[in-house]
Order: sequence, then C-alpha cells, then structure tokens
Amino acid sequence: MAQGFPNSFNVDSGNSNSPYAAEAWIEPWLLKHSTFYRKHLTRDGRQESKSSRRASIIDAEIQSRKNSVAATERNDSEDSTAAGAYSTMADIKEPERIIKTDLWQFGARQRTDGPYADNLDIDVLIVGAGFGGAYVLYEMRKAGYSTVLYDAGTSFGGTWRWNVYPGARVDSPVPIYELAIPEVYNTWHWTTNYPDWRELQAYFDHVDKTLELSKDCAFKSVVTSAEFDESDGKWNVVTADGRKAKARFLVVAAGFAAKRYIPGFESMDKFRGTMCHSSFWPNEGIDYKGKRVAVIGTGASGVQMIQAMGPEATQLDVYQRTPNLALPMGKRDLTKEEQDALKPYYPEILAYRERCFAGFHYDLCERNTFDDTPEERQAHFDKLWKQAGFALWLGGYKDYLFDDKANDEAYKYWRKCQSPRVKNPDKARILFPEKKPHPFGVKRPCLEQSYYEVLDRDNVGLIDINEKSGTPIVGFTEKGIKTSDGKEREYDIIALATGFDVVTGGMTSMGLKSIHGTLLKDEWKEGAQTYLGTTISGYPNMFHLYGPHGPTLLANGPSAVEIQGRWIRDAINFATRQKLKYINPSKEASDEWKKRINDLGNLTLFPTTRSTYMGGTVPGKKNEMTCYAGGVNAYKDEIRGKLTDWVGFEVVAN
Ligand SMILES: Cc1cc2nc3c(=O)[nH]c(=O)nc-3n(C[C@H](O)[C@H](O)[C@H](O)COP(=O)(O)OP(=O)(O)OC[C@H]3O[C@@H](n4cnc5c(N)ncnc54)[C@H](O)[C@@H]3O)c2cc1C
Repeated sequence: MAQGFPNSFNVDSGNSNSPYAAEAWIEPWLLKHSTFYRKHLTRDGRQESKSSRRASIIDAEIQSRKNSVAATERNDSEDSTAAGAYSTMADIKEPERIIKTDLWQFGARQRTDGPYADNLDIDVLIVGAGFGGAYVLYEMRKAGYSTVLYDAGTSFGGTWRWNVYPGARVDSPVPIYELAIPEVYNTWHWTTNYPDWRELQAYFDHVDKTLELSKDCAFKSVVTSAEFDESDGKWNVVTADGRKAKARFLVVAAGFAAKRYIPGFESMDKFRGTMCHSSFWPNEGIDYKGKRVAVIGTGASGVQMIQAMGPEATQLDVYQRTPNLALPMGKRDLTKEEQDALKPYYPEILAYRERCFAGFHYDLCERNTFDDTPEERQAHFDKLWKQAGFALWLGGYKDYLFDDKANDEAYKYWRKCQSPRVKNPDKARILFPEKKPHPFGVKRPCLEQSYYEVLDRDNVGLIDINEKSGTPIVGFTEKGIKTSDGKEREYDIIALATGFDVVTGGMTSMGLKSIHGTLLKDEWKEGAQTYLGTTISGYPNMFHLYGPHGPTLLANGPSAVEIQGRWIRDAINFATRQKLKYINPSKEASDEWKKRINDLGNLTLFPTTRSTYMGGTVPGKKNEMTCYAGGVNAYKDEIRGKLTDWVGFEVVAN
C-alpha cells in the first residue's frame, strides 16, 4: 500500500495476505464450488499445461497491462513518493481553462464514407458505444440487420471513454462486470478484480477488435434530433454536424450519465485556474502534482479523485454536502491461471448474475435484522465486511432497505468499522455523524481503497457545505471558492465531481420528438414516462436501455443491458417477422408501468432521500423513483411476459 500512509487500511494492497484476498472475487459462487476452487486456484501448475499454447502471448499482454496499470496507479498517486509521477505523460498540455459542459461540443465530422455517410437508410440505428450499444450492435449484426452505431466519443467504452479522471475505477468486480460473449471473455484476462479506466478501455478495444464492431460505427457523432415518420415507418435522425440518417428502429443506449450536471455557482466564469467536470477530464490528464486543488462533491467520482489526488497535491480541499458511506473495495491482483481455471464455468457464473437482485453475485440474506441475536448479527455483518466490495450493501438483511430500525443496525455497523480510520476529530464528526445522514444503502455506497486515510492527511481539508450543518459555497472568485462563512480559499484546479442529470438527462438532451409533435424534454418535465423501461409511448419503434424505469442504477451495468438488449433484439425480430410497420406502447400501459415503478419504490426507504435513485439533485428536477426496484431477476420475467402478444402495445401493420 501507499508509502506515507502509516495507518493505511490493508485491504487493497494486492498482496495475498490481505484478509479480503480470495473471498472478494465472486465469493458466493466459489463457495458453492469450493472443491473446484481449492483444486484450481492453488497455482499448482496443472492449469498451466492446459493453457500453455496461449500462455506466452497472454502473459506478455497481461504484463504490459500490469505495467500500464502500475504507471496509472503511480500517476493516480497511491504512492505519494513516486518520483516523476507524470514521467509517462511527458508531453502533457495544459487543458483549456474553460470546461466543456455538453456532449454536442465533442461532435465533429470524421469521414464521409461508410457509417459516416450522409443520408443513410438502414434497419437499426444505435446511439451509444458502451456496454449497451456494443451488445445490441453484436446482436443486430448476428440477426442480419443493417445497423449503424453513433457515439459522441472516439471509440468503444461509453462511460470508460469519458470518465478518465484520476483514480477512475469500476465498483463491480470482474467477471461480473463484463459481457457474456464467449469469444470476448475467452480471449481476455484482467490484471485485477477491480480494473481502472485504462484497463476497461483496453477491454473495450478488445471487444471491438474481436467482434469487428467499429466498421459499422461513426464516432464523434452526436445525435441532436430524432423524429419518427409514421408514413414510412422510419426514424429521421440528425447529428450535431448536420448529417441525416433514416432507420426503422432506433435504439438509445446513451447510458445514465450522458448529461453532466454542473451547478450554477455564482461567478463560476470568473475563476482563472483550471476547472473541469470529472466526466470531461481530458485524456492527457491535468497535472495536479504540487498544486492547490478543490474537489466539489463526494459521490463515486469524488471519492476516487480525492483518494488519488490527496497524496500528490500540495493542498486538496474536499467540499462535501453529504458523507459517502463508502465501503472497502477489496481490490487484488488476478492471475491468468485463476481466470483460465474459471473460464469453463463462465456461462454459469455470468447467467447467475441474472438470478440475483442487483445483477451481481450478492443477494440479500433471507433473514430479517431482528430475527438474529445481537451476536448473530455481528457475526453476519463481520462475514459481509470480510467479503468486502458491495457485500454489506447487497448481501444485508432482507428488511434493511425497507425498515428504518433495521437500517440503523447496518449504519451503526458501518460507522463502527470505518470511523477509527480518521483520527482528526473535526473531520470524523463530518464523515461519521452519530445520526445517520440518510438510511444506509439508499445512496450507492462507493468502494474505496484509502479514502479515509487520505481525508485524514494534514494537506487535505474537509469543508462541510451542507445547507443545514455547514457553510455552503456562495460563489467563485478569480482565485478560488467562497463559502458562506466569508472564507475564500485559493486553488489552481477545481474538479467538479458534481455528477449528472442522472438517468433521464441523456435522453432529454437528444432532441427526441414524438409522433404528437412534442419534445421528450418537455414531456418529462413532470417526470419520466416509459413502458417496461425499454419503450416510450409516442415514440414508435424506439427502444432504450440502462435508462429510466429499468433496473439501471440498482443493477450491475452489463447484467442489466444484456437482459434489456435481448428483449430489444427479440422485439425487433418479432416486429420484422410479423411485417409490422411499427409498435407503440399505449399511454395506459405506460401509466401503469409508472405506477409499478412508484409502488415498488414506495415499499423501500429510497424515497426518503434525494439521491441518484430519485433522479439526482438537479434543481427543479422531479424527485421520483427512476429505477425498477423489484430486482433484475423479477424485471427480466416481467418484461418478457409482455413481449409475446405485444401486451400494452399498439401494433400497426405495413
Ligand atoms: C464513473 C462511473 C463509474 C461507474 N462504475 C460502475 C460500476 O462499478 N458498476 C456498474 O455496474 N456500473 C457502473 N457505472 C455505470 C456505467 O455507466 C454502466 O456500468 C455501463 O457502462 C453502462 O453502459 P451503457 O452502454 O448503458 O452506457 P455508457 O457506457 O454510459 O455509454 C453511453 C454512450 O452513449 C453516448 N451518447 C449519449 N448521448 C449521445 C448522443 N446524443 N449522441 C451520441 N452519443 C451519445 C455517450 O457518448 C456514451 O459513450 C459507472 C458509471 C460512471 C459514470
């Protein structure tokens, strides 16, 4: 672990003595197969001979990725003593001082041929090149549809092309966080169970290469308007650079985070230093070593940035509105051998994700909190804590997200485990309040490696900007940030980890127009309306995934997009075979689905707190449940049941 952190929490060292080492990776599944586990993960050489043909190539590949990861981690400053942290980035150019705010600012015509041509007329147009878009493109190609994919970014990866801020790393372990496509996973090895953005980009390059996806893709292509023409049964799509395309089906795989949220602090434009949103961080990086840095926000991105930048910056100030109830990640190195040993079981491992509530391998415990004695409860929590990752969140007692008293027990346990890591009493008071800031788990806890030790450093300041308990930001100045107590703090860099117009923002920024002449962005001012979390009334032959009213934020990304992607594939197949001009969900069915989303949400503690699950914190945005809270397992069955007879859809023949 990082030198300079004498008190550092020994979770994430990648060393085999870590108490979290083996259990952290797909633990529940492994326990079921413990004989296999012992036999194959002992590195006894038997696996080596089996895979020796590919071994040297893969070893070289893994080694080179490990080197790159090591370089990243040095740059992301887990080691505060790393000499010349930017030695691999010698040509760093200072980014623009003024931040970019919107996707369309990245649109630029690359070419004029193939998928970049004007006036395309195709079967399927997909927007988005993350897990969702990659998966649907793969399925559409296999089914023989002429398909083109547009993405605002420069290549495959979606989230992981944009979120390249210091410390950016996944919170779902692999192989849970990867596509269940055998030709992809059989030829890929990870260096760690929680890869960072560089390794995820390399993975997506591999997906692209293996499935030959790019030949049907136009990058830097930002969709700015789309309207369905009922007369010819086709979508008319326009990009920021003025290209037009027609398609029978439009698949919106824009993810939940396409629209960045930048709060309108007073005089932001006055600040003369470098200011950047975490999700538009430049690929070439921003040199924060030896600089005065502010991070605004302590959601998932904020936690990771703070952890990475704190040890390198001269001064790092953290502006926190709500403490993140972060959990230890349990990151460790993975060997090629252990991955190869599990590969034959991947079909089962990956299918198992879809049988668990959140699309991981954790599932809520069958008992209620107070069914257990205090001692039994302690033992249960200890077991989950030892597993690390999201175990405490997704493997807790089955009532803790429904019953506030049960929830108190989870919070108390979390607080007891994490609070000893911060010695500074003023910081500890803000980070671990005795009264829980909100029910544990109704905001997604972030996974951390050394977050609390970094916050405890003398060069790291913690400013409570909560309206009730702290000193909110009142504005920016030329030199820095002013808070309500009159203090002005000066910075070279301000990192805005302020999140997104979450879940709906991508779709409402795309210029989608209904057959009634209304714009989605106006229709959804009073809240999102979808049918099944995959379609929208008034937008025929349009499908969306990993967006509103699906499991989305309550699910592991790849698990959710594969369930929805298969459903979309089948819907397109049925409509095509039945020679339908279009399908359009009815308003009544859509109203019922909305009620279903709210009913499921209202059973839980989620509505008690303004969070991403409730639409985020964009001022004026409707505070309502955005995701299906019945679990991916139930969701899968529920939406499938509607497909066979087009239940809830208006069906128009050619
Ligand atoms: C920092 C961060 C960390 C995350 N960590 C996890 C995690 O640990 N586990 C997990 O399960 N999920 C995580 N997520 C959620 C993550 O987004 C999903 O796991 C997954 O990547 C979603 O894939 P997707 O294809 O639906 O969307 P994305 O990967 O978001 O891809 C959407 C793509 O659509 C493009 N796009 C959007 N609008 C337009 C437009 N108008 N025109 C053209 N292109 C457009 C974007 O450029 C983007 O490339 C994280 C998200 C973020 C932001």
